Amino acid sequence: MQKKRVVFSYPPHLVDQPVISTLVKDFELMVNILRARITPNEEGRLVLEITGKRSGLEAGFKYLSEIGVEIQPLAQDVKWHEDRCTHCTACISICPTKALDVNRPPMEVFFKRDKCIACELCIPVCPYQAMEILF
Ligand code: SF4
Ligand code: SF4
Repeated sequence: MQKKRVVFSYPPHLVDQPVISTLVKDFELMVNILRARITPNEEGRLVLEITGKRSGLEAGFKYLSEIGVEIQPLAQDVKWHEDRCTHCTACISICPTKALDVNRPPMEVFFKRDKCIACELCIPVCPYQAMEILF
């Protein structure tokens, strides 16, 4: 089994289509919706965690591409601006997945993209706008 965190961008004509249920039913994938922004007649954006067999993931992503869903890894939409980070650690206790964590010593904060679920909890607590989520 493999797990992928991805961002789907839907064109307007797909917003009311059963795309997610097709992934579950036809490709035997488990889909966990982490974030969603869909409005009728406009583009939709979903952040998803998808789990399944490699063959199911490949076939499911092929189906999505064919119907016009744009897929990109979640990591591309979450940015840690290391140059702005002062390693104050204000975000560490708030991050639910330990995507932001600290090496102690020397008390250096680090960001692990593959653990981030784009929950945005770190955004308001960071005094230096070091975290950015591009949705
Ligand atoms: S968006 Fe959520 S999971 Fe990602 S680093 Fe911030 S608090 Fe952690
Ligand atoms: S709150 Fe911002 S500045 Fe402080 S450690 Fe976290 S990312 Fe760095």
